[in-house]
Amino acid sequence: MQPFAYHRPDDAGSAIDAARSKSAQNGPPAQAPGQFISGGTNMSDYMKLNVMQPEVLVDINRLADPRYREIRADERGLRFGALVRMSQAEDHPVVKSQYPVIYDTLHLAATRQIRNMASLGGNPLQRTRCEYFRETSWPCNKRNPGSGCSAMNGLNRQHAVLGTSEQCIAAYPGDFAQALIALDATVEIMGPNGARTIAFSELHRLPADTPNIETVLEPGELITFIDVPAGPWTRRSRYIKVRDRQSYQFALTSAAVAIDLDGKAVRDVRIALGGVATVPWRARDAEAVLKGKALDESTAMEAANVAFSTAQTREHNAFKVPIGKQTLVRALLEAKLMEA
Ligand SMILES: Cc1cc2nc3c(=O)[nH]c(=O)nc-3n(C[C@H](O)[C@H](O)[C@H](O)COP(=O)(O)OP(=O)(O)OC[C@H]3O[C@@H](n4cnc5c(N)ncnc54)[C@H](O)[C@@H]3O)c2cc1C
Repeated sequence: MQPFAYHRPDDAGSAIDAARSKSAQNGPPAQAPGQFISGGTNMSDYMKLNVMQPEVLVDINRLADPRYREIRADERGLRFGALVRMSQAEDHPVVKSQYPVIYDTLHLAATRQIRNMASLGGNPLQRTRCEYFRETSWPCNKRNPGSGCSAMNGLNRQHAVLGTSEQCIAAYPGDFAQALIALDATVEIMGPNGARTIAFSELHRLPADTPNIETVLEPGELITFIDVPAGPWTRRSRYIKVRDRQSYQFALTSAAVAIDLDGKAVRDVRIALGGVATVPWRARDAEAVLKGKALDESTAMEAANVAFSTAQTREHNAFKVPIGKQTLVRALLEAKLMEA
């Protein structure tokens, strides 16, 4: 780990200034010399591995505005401050009863100890667990642009089959993001040029030719809030996560679904897939298959076939397609049985 300066400001403006102080040049925020740290469960890990080497680390845990630590739940939906801990959200009674898909994604992630530290602002920005990215002796286009992708012809069992490019097949590892993208969440951002709000679905960028640029955030931009709109689909919602071990493990495949039924027919459905894609993955084509139809094993499998119709597999990860489909079918059928 290289030496770094440490700041712990108490207002967002100073935090942004401190993170930007060395980042005059435009470039991917993940490679900028100034970096935020919140729970630190991802940042400190990657600093120890020398994957991330910030010169300035800006600890945002002392920001004085109490709203950054609060969850607001009302008829408009949920508003999460960026410093809310995963376990705090997981324990919230409204999250549990009205937004079970969010509860599931939090409860099934990491361990309770990690969730006590990890923040909701930091969670969606966690970086891939691709071993070639984490081990700096390997070529990796995400870590070192232009050096090549070692996973392409290497051990790629955990890698993505959707949203891949010739430059990168690293899977997006998080769970919470699948609930956020399925429920049409938005993200409030504060930065050197003021505040802006974007759809959560716009936050992450496909790898394409620049896998090192993972989000649309500019250096110095701080996530302040995440909003999840209320809707008739949130109660009948579910997240299924398939992994090598039943606890303390990242997803091999996962599916977040939310359904609004009109009698037997699907009035609205939202589907997101995890473990199988390079970014949080909304499966809108699969949603279109189900709308207006009765939801049963056959229509659910029809949707799953569409969801994976563009999958590109490699030597070791082809198993993710059949398992991913079954994960989605199970999530849909279990959600259907829930009370609205
Ligand atoms: C052993 C282990 C197992 C895990 N298992 C899972 C799992 O199963 N599922 C899962 O989803 N996750 C899992 N995780 C990942 C964990 O959930 C994330 O590390 C955590 O959520 C990140 O949040 P943090 O607050 O600790 O982020 P930090 O480590 O503090 O930051 C992460 C990144 O976000 C940036 N950042 C943080 N806050 C903000 C903000 N407000 N605005 C802008 N940028 C910000 C930082 O600069 C950094 O780049 C696991 C982690 C470990 C170590």
